[in-house]
Amino acid sequence: MSQADRNQGYYHEERETASVDTWRAYHERRLRGLAEHAYQFAPAITALFDKAGVRPDEITTLESLQRLPVTTKTDLARMQAEDPPFGGFLTVPVNQLKRIFMSPGPIYDPQGKAGSFWAWSEGFFAAGFRPGDIVINTFGYQMTPAGLMFEEPLLDLGCCVIPTGVGNTETQIKIMKDLGVTGFVGMASFLRKIGVAARELGLEPTRDLALEIGYVAAEILTDALRQEVEELFGMRLFQGYGTADCGCLAYECRESNGMHLTANAYVEILDPQTRKVLGPGEPGEVVVTLFNSTYPLIRFATGDLSAFTIEPCACGRTAPRLTRIMGRVDQLTKVKGMFVHPAQAQAILARFPEVGKFQIIVTRESEVDRMKFQLELKSDPDSETAFLEKLSSAIQDGLKLRPELEIVAGGSLEPTEKLIIDKRTWD
Ligand SMILES: [Zn+2]
Repeated sequence: MSQADRNQGYYHEERETASVDTWRAYHERRLRGLAEHAYQFAPAITALFDKAGVRPDEITTLESLQRLPVTTKTDLARMQAEDPPFGGFLTVPVNQLKRIFMSPGPIYDPQGKAGSFWAWSEGFFAAGFRPGDIVINTFGYQMTPAGLMFEEPLLDLGCCVIPTGVGNTETQIKIMKDLGVTGFVGMASFLRKIGVAARELGLEPTRDLALEIGYVAAEILTDALRQEVEELFGMRLFQGYGTADCGCLAYECRESNGMHLTANAYVEILDPQTRKVLGPGEPGEVVVTLFNSTYPLIRFATGDLSAFTIEPCACGRTAPRLTRIMGRVDQLTKVKGMFVHPAQAQAILARFPEVGKFQIIVTRESEVDRMKFQLELKSDPDSETAFLEKLSSAIQDGLKLRPELEIVAGGSLEPTEKLIIDKRTWD
């Protein structure tokens, strides 16, 4: 199938190009409906509103939602343990569900009887999956929802699915070759492994396999990994962002410049400490209000760190985009009042080919935080002073903090996987 064919019928839903005002009206209408329905049928939501002193008919605007507290993943696990299996969030009797899954946590995840329960079709369509694709789905089909969750949009869009699940690399290669598989769903790192193994078997993936399009999730996709896999197979990779509890929350269009937020939820980015609503470009925690009548989560804090942009996208879709998922909120360290995330630091230092391994040591002297980057170099820069100056200003730009820099001998960093070592004591 040509790329032009994959671009055919670019929008899956008419509202994808709606104006800002239409989007707001849409979200507020869905919020009102959700609040009334969830308050009436989900005991946990009734309790949540009552405790906050808010009536469901008071949730009329996006701003009014801020009167309600957030529920964290830890809260959800605790509430499920206290009131099994769904912690009071389910609006239907348990035996009316289509399927029940268990994710690590442990957390039970329901699948209601409504079609497109996890709402990934919009994202798969935007990526270019079309009727006629034969797609290998390498997510697990047992216990956790991943396999069936990602199969749903493929069936919705009229693709043929081969449910291979995790592992069995050589068998996956045989199936891809025998059946002329055009699409892949799974983890990008697994697809790379398949490509490498195919070469070891004497195959040339760009010639002997027919892969054109892949949908990857469940891990952070670096630009390097994406490029490597795309070149290995001569295909395009797209990613989406979602969770086992929420389904799809955001997805890439064919511009691959961030992930458009789904119409199926209202997503806020909150300061992880103060829970203040943040604006475009400000990194914070992804908090989701899910328009799902079976399992309505309201201000559910995912623990994932991201930021959004409202810059127009060339694809014409008007939903804001998450720029990227930056990691987990619990990996954040606050230095001089600013959040520093290992992935953020890593992204900055990756632009300097001279830098090998590094660690960030955070200390506190005379009530002032200090942040020192210890660097092992792979190669000597032409001028050490110029190199350190350039690096220092890049870090200051990215982290909004002035770093101390120290070049150390190879092998002298602390033996830990941690990138940020917090040595501050608070007594
Ligand atoms: Zn777009």
